[in-house]
Amino acid sequence: MEFILAKTAGFCWGVRLALNKTLEVEASQYQKVTTLGPLVHNPQVVDLLRHREIHNAGAIQEIDGGLAIIRSHGVSPADYAELERRSDAILDNTCPIVKRSQKVVQTYVKKGHFVVIYGEPRHAEVIGLIGFAGADNVRIIEGAHELDKIPADRNVLLITQTTTNVAEWQRIMKEARERFPSVVVKDTMCDATVERQDEILELCRSVDAMVVIGGKNSGTRRASRKSPPRNSASPRGTSKPKTNSRAWISRRTAGSASPRARARPRGASTASWRI
Ligand code: SF4
Repeated sequence: MEFILAKTAGFCWGVRLALNKTLEVEASQYQKVTTLGPLVHNPQVVDLLRHREIHNAGAIQEIDGGLAIIRSHGVSPADYAELERRSDAILDNTCPIVKRSQKVVQTYVKKGHFVVIYGEPRHAEVIGLIGFAGADNVRIIEGAHELDKIPADRNVLLITQTTTNVAEWQRIMKEARERFPSVVVKDTMCDATVERQDEILELCRSVDAMVVIGGKNSGTRRASRKSPPRNSASPRGTSKPKTNSRAWISRRTAGSASPRARARPRGASTASWRI
């Protein structure tokens, strides 16, 4: 049985930057060190940080003094102000690509635009962007089938969460430009997401089975699993090597006279050493 490891396997550069900056923190210098939400969607990394006395707060109300760490997804301006009140210092690990999206939203909201975001309503990055737009001035869509939600009587900015399904976003941009020519469309998709999904499309044509390794809450993992076309190897997601079901892989490849390779791509928050 041949295994192919995706060339883009390992952390994306934004997650690597956030993790490296966090690992440089000397926890003993602070009363406590807390990340607001898991630093990355990767339970093994969260465990590693816990061993270094860097804890994870499930809600902003749990932050009480010490160093507060913002993860790569970023936070809303209101949450940033709240963190300033609740902590002694802040380490802002917002990925520069997410910061770029926040800036785009800020710029167009100042010009009076209504904001439409293609993304997952409960994803931390989207929640942060909603904060930049203003709760009454934003709508989340989860696919091209929801383009009717674009208000026809407003100036509109359309963007995407950085880690959604690339093919669907391309469809949304094309349809929105045709149906609503006045809508300002900004392509805020992350290059790392595009590269991963391009590689999945390429790999799935030549393998019998594909496993996407990533935390259950990873937007990249979810989007990656949706990217292959019909009649190709549809990926199975897993977050741990022990659930990396050999049995499933064997079933997928059983009966094949000349089994092709099995591929292993992964989410943007998955370390190379877990693969
Ligand atoms: S996937 Fe892209 S936007 Fe998200 S952390 Fe990685 S580099 Fe940044």
